[in-house]
Amino acid sequence: MPWYKKLHWQIIIAMILGLIYGLIASRFGWVKFTEYWIKPWGTIFINLLKLIAMPMILASLVTGIASLSDLTKLSRIGGKTIGLYIITTIIAVILALLVANAFKSTGAFSGELRKQLKEMYAGKIQEKQDIAAKQIKKGPLQSIVNIIPQNAVDAASNNRNMLQMVFLAILIGIGLVKSNKEKTGIISKIFESANELILRIVELIMVIAPFGVFAQLASVITELAGNDPANAMRVLKALGLYLFMVILALFLHVMFVYIGMLKLFTKISIKEFFKAIQPAMLIAFSTSSSAATLPITMECCEKELGLPEEITSFTLPVGATVNMDGTSIYQAISVVFIAHIMGINLTFMDQITVILTCTLASIGAAGVPGAGVVMLVIVMQAINIPIEGIALVLGVERIIDMFRSVVNITGDSAVTCVVSQSEGNRTNSPTALESKTDDNPNL
Ligand code: ASP
Repeated sequence: MPWYKKLHWQIIIAMILGLIYGLIASRFGWVKFTEYWIKPWGTIFINLLKLIAMPMILASLVTGIASLSDLTKLSRIGGKTIGLYIITTIIAVILALLVANAFKSTGAFSGELRKQLKEMYAGKIQEKQDIAAKQIKKGPLQSIVNIIPQNAVDAASNNRNMLQMVFLAILIGIGLVKSNKEKTGIISKIFESANELILRIVELIMVIAPFGVFAQLASVITELAGNDPANAMRVLKALGLYLFMVILALFLHVMFVYIGMLKLFTKISIKEFFKAIQPAMLIAFSTSSSAATLPITMECCEKELGLPEEITSFTLPVGATVNMDGTSIYQAISVVFIAHIMGINLTFMDQITVILTCTLASIGAAGVPGAGVVMLVIVMQAINIPIEGIALVLGVERIIDMFRSVVNITGDSAVTCVVSQSEGNRTNSPTALESKTDDNPNL
C-alpha cells in the first residue's frame, strides 16, 4: 500500500498543514474565520472520540473480565498496574527535579519579563485558583469516594466519571464470572457484540482523524498566536528555556523509563512499540487529552501490539485517568522554575514534598486539556509558593500540554505491555502483526 494511504502518515501531513495554516491565519488575521469555520471540525472529531470512550470502557472491560476463569488474576493485574503507575510517576518527578535543578543555576530570566507575563495572565490565574480551592476543600479520601457511583446512568453520563465507569464494569464483569453461565450467558454475549460494534465505530471515526487533527492544530496555533504573532514569538522566546527543560525531561523519561521497562520486562521491540502506538501519540498531541485519545490507544494496543483485551480494557482506562507521568514532570519543573524566578529557595524537604504532591496531583488530574495546570496550584500551595507565579508559565501551557499528553498515553501503553508480558499474554505474534499492519489502511 502506498505510504500516503497509511493513517499515521495522513495524520502527520494533517498536523504539518494545520501548523502552516495556523501560522498563515494569524499572520493575515483570520482568527475569527478559523474559530467559526475550522475549529468546529476539530471539536466534532474530539466529540466523536469522547462519545465512544464510555461505551468502549464498559463493553471492553466487562468482556475482558467475564472471559477470566479465575478472579485472582484480576486482582493481580490490578496490583501490578497500579504499582507500576505509581513507581513510574515517582521516577518521573525525581527525573524532572534533577533536570530543573541542573538548569536552575543559569538565572536567565529577568524581573521585568516576570512582571510582564504576570500581567498578561492575571485573569486566568484566579480561575485556576478557584477550581483548585474547591478540590482541596473536599479532603484526601474524596478521590476514592468519587470512584463509587451512586447512580449507574449518572456515571455513564459524564466522561469525567471514567473511573466510575471502570468500577461499574468491574462489578458487572465479576458478577458475570460468578454467576451461572446458562442464565447470564446472554448478557456476556451482548457485551461481546457491543464490543465488536464499538471497534468498528472507532475505525469509522479514524477515517476522519486527519481532518480533525488539521482543524485542531490550526485552531490551537491561531489561538496561541492570536492576531499578534510577534507577541506570541516574544512569549515563546522568553519561555524557551523553560519549554526546553520540560520537553527534555519528558524525552528522557520516555527514553530511559519506558524504553528501559520494555527492554527489561518485555519481548516487544522498541520499533514495534512506537510504530504501533504512533496514531495514539499523534492524536494525543493534537487533542491534548488522554481521555479523548483512549479509544485509539486501546485500538493500537490491542490490534497492533496484540495485547489481550482483558488487560488493556483495565490498564488503559485507569491509566488515562490516574497515570500521568508527563503531567507530573510538567508540574515538578514548573514549581522549581517559578520558585527560582520568584527568588524562593526550595529546601530538600520542599523537594520531597514536591515528589509526593506531584505524584498525587497527577493521579488526581483528569485526562483533559489543561487539567495539569489546575493541579499545579495544589503542588505550589503545598510548599508555599505564591499562586500568582503560575502566570509566568501560562504562555506556553498549551504547547506543553500537547507534549505531556503524548507522554501520558505512552506511559499507559508501556505499562500495559509490561503487565501483559508478566501475565504471559500476547495474543498475536509480531509476525502475524506485520502482515496485518500491511493489509489494514487504518493502521
Ligand atoms: N492534558 C493532559 C492529559 O490529558 C492532562 C494535563 O496534564 O493537563 O493527559
